[in-house]
Amino acid sequence: MSSLMKSLIISEPGKMAIAEAARPEPKGDELLIRVGASGICGTDVHIYNGSFTASYPVVPGHEFAGEAVAVGPDCKRFAPGARVAVEPNIPCNNCPECLRGEHHFCRNMVVPGVNRPGGMAEYVIVNERGAFDIGDLPFVEGALVEPLSCVIHATERLGVGWAEHALVMGAGPIGVMMGRLIKARGAARVDYLERNATRAARAAALGLGVVYASASEIADRVYDSVADATGASALVAEAANRMTRPRGRVLLFGVPHKDGQVVLDHFRVFREEISIIASFTSLKNSMQAVDLMKSKTIRVDDLVSHQIKLSKCPDYIRRMEAGDGELRKVTVTDFTH
Ligand SMILES: [Zn+2]
Ligand SMILES: [Zn+2]
Repeated sequence: MSSLMKSLIISEPGKMAIAEAARPEPKGDELLIRVGASGICGTDVHIYNGSFTASYPVVPGHEFAGEAVAVGPDCKRFAPGARVAVEPNIPCNNCPECLRGEHHFCRNMVVPGVNRPGGMAEYVIVNERGAFDIGDLPFVEGALVEPLSCVIHATERLGVGWAEHALVMGAGPIGVMMGRLIKARGAARVDYLERNATRAARAAALGLGVVYASASEIADRVYDSVADATGASALVAEAANRMTRPRGRVLLFGVPHKDGQVVLDHFRVFREEISIIASFTSLKNSMQAVDLMKSKTIRVDDLVSHQIKLSKCPDYIRRMEAGDGELRKVTVTDFTH
């Protein structure tokens, strides 16, 4: 093993390059992971353009899986050779939020790819409690454990009812996972709202329900629940103000613009007992995600559209920033070029 490794480094907003650096050594309870697959997420695009703040310079990538090649002396659950996925929000377990069991609000969160070097590199260091055994699951699927965990948390927050009619707004990879989970939890029908024609065609092929291209095509008071995977404040308002049935629920899951405002029809939301529910990241859902994938309860392999070399990562981050509808999940699987 060479003592140098390649990584993608975002030195400041708008600047990224592939660089070579010394491979780190695991200390304490840390694992040194040879990354097998690392997915590009919207958050990485935001770290690149500066709309999501990271500790620059940063190696991005928080959706990854790989093989543990060395472990620190205090590591208990893993030995070299273990195949693991990473839960990238590693809490301190000792702040007021952690002590209440709300670890996803930890005040001292360690986040590879945001405030620690992440998975867009040949090797990465992760604390043992952030690693989960994936057995023989392919690394490309292991890299989807993190996004699937977030969607599991979201559907738990939403609380899907038996035979309900649901709408998912946005049919990117996250929206597709969301629809599949809502269906798996017992919904009778999952419709989609998606204006991009390529994504809409793929959503239709899922066979879960009707796909609408525009909110204006959707009648009033039809859905028991509406899950937003777009972050568009105007759509969230329409969901709460008219698309939901009395007692309907609206899930805020897509990342909104920092200054986004949702204007509610206060009387309607009051009179018809509409619930607005938010879901942020995940809360100890990684083992569920691994089990749902391994058991094939939730299919994810068809979400990955491109497996690329690390050197192509800057091009794809820019294409994602430009909103290229051809891209579903883009995953780096070759870190040596
Ligand atoms: Zn992500
Ligand atoms: Zn904490």
